[in-house]
Amino acid sequence: MTTSLNVKAIRKLFPILQPSANSQPLVYLDNAATTQKPLTVIQAINDYYQNSNANVHRASHQLSTKATLGFEKARQTVQQFINASTSAEVIWTRGATEAINLVAYSYGYHFIKAGDEILITSLEHHANIVPWQQLAKAKGAKLKVVSINEAGELNKQDFSKKLSKKTKLVCLSHISNAIGTINPIHQLIQEAHDAGALVLVDAAQSAAHTKLDVQTLSCDFLVFSGHKLYGPTGIGVLYAKRALLDMMPPWQMGGEMIEQVTLEDTRFNCVPFKFEAGTPNIAGAFGLASAIEFINQLDLNQVKQHEIALASYAESLIQHLPGIRFYSKANDRIGIISFLIKGHHPQDIGLLLDQKGIAVRVGHHCAMPLMQHLNINGTIRASFAVYNTTQEVEQFANALADICQPAT
Ligand code: PLP
Repeated sequence: MTTSLNVKAIRKLFPILQPSANSQPLVYLDNAATTQKPLTVIQAINDYYQNSNANVHRASHQLSTKATLGFEKARQTVQQFINASTSAEVIWTRGATEAINLVAYSYGYHFIKAGDEILITSLEHHANIVPWQQLAKAKGAKLKVVSINEAGELNKQDFSKKLSKKTKLVCLSHISNAIGTINPIHQLIQEAHDAGALVLVDAAQSAAHTKLDVQTLSCDFLVFSGHKLYGPTGIGVLYAKRALLDMMPPWQMGGEMIEQVTLEDTRFNCVPFKFEAGTPNIAGAFGLASAIEFINQLDLNQVKQHEIALASYAESLIQHLPGIRFYSKANDRIGIISFLIKGHHPQDIGLLLDQKGIAVRVGHHCAMPLMQHLNINGTIRASFAVYNTTQEVEQFANALADICQPAT
C-alpha cells in the first residue's frame, strides 16, 4: 500500500502516539469517536492559560483584551475553514450535540408547528435523532425517516418520496459515524430546498476528512465538534445563515447574551453573542483554531484517500476470517470498517484487542435505530485517521486473526 502523505512525520506531531519504554505502543483506531491531538493543539491550550487567561468581552484590562482578540480570531479561523460569509455565522457550542440542540430549541420550538414534518435518515447518530423526535412530540409535528439500502446507502427515491410541502426541516448526517457512508449531500440539500425545507447538516464525521464549504453547500445549518478534527473536547460549532440567526430567539439565558437587563425585561445581544450565554470555552476555541491550522497544512483529499486505503487494506486482510460480516459497504465512504464475527461477542473482541494495545470501538456507536435496522446490537468499528499506518493495520489484522483462532 502506498500513500503520498508523510505519515511518519505527521505521527511525530502527536505525543500520545510516541513509543514509550514502559508500555506497548498504542494502535489507535477509534478516531470516529475522538481523534488524538497534535502537540501544537495541546500547546495552544496551555499557552492560553499561561499567557492570556482572562474572561472575554467583559473587562477593560489588557489581559482580557488579549483573550478576546484570540477568541474572536479563533472564530474567524472557523469562518474561513468552512467558508462562512461572516464570523457572525459561527456560534461556539460544546460540540455537535449542543449545536443541534440549539437549533431544535431555538428554531424548532419557535417555528415548527403541529402538522409540520421533520425528515431525518436511518443513518443518524442519536444527537441528530433525539432532539428532533422530542421536538416533534412537543409540537405535534411528524418525524419521518428516510430508509437505506442493503449497502447502507441512503435510499434517494425514499428521500424524494418523503419530502413534501409539509417538510420544514431536513436533518441529515454528511457521513455516518457507524458505517462510514458518505451521503450525496449537495444533491440532497438542493432537493430539500426545492421542496421549501431548511437543511441541517451534521458534519461531525466530515470536518476531518472532507473540505467543507457552507456557501457551496448552501446548507442552512451545519454542526461539528472540535475533538473529532484533532482539537479539544468541549468545543464545537454551529454554522447558520445570518438571516436565520437574526430571526431565531436565544435559547439559553444569562451573561454575555444580553445587551441590557432591567428587572422587568432584557434586550438581547446581537448575533453571534445572543446564542452564547455565560463564560465560553475560551481555551477550547484557542485549541480548535490550532487544530484547524494543523488541518489546513494537509491536503484533505490525500488524507481521505490515505484513510480509505487503510480501511480497504484492513478489510482485505481480515475478510477471510470465518464468520466475518461487514456493515460498512457503501460505495462512497470514508476510512471506517464496521463488522461482526460470528461466534465472537464484539465486546470480547474489543477487550482482547485492547489487551494487545489496539483501540477500536464496539457497540451501537450511538446509532441504535441504525443497529435495529441492520438487525444487530452493535458492531466492531475501526476508524482511521491521518496518523494511522499500514503496520498498524497489519497489527490489527494479526491480532484479530489470533483472537478468532479456533481453540485447540
Ligand atoms: N453526529 C455524529 C455523526 C457523530 O459521530 C457524533 C459523535 O460521535 C455526534 C453527532 C455528536 O458529537 P459530540 O458528542 O461531539 O457532540
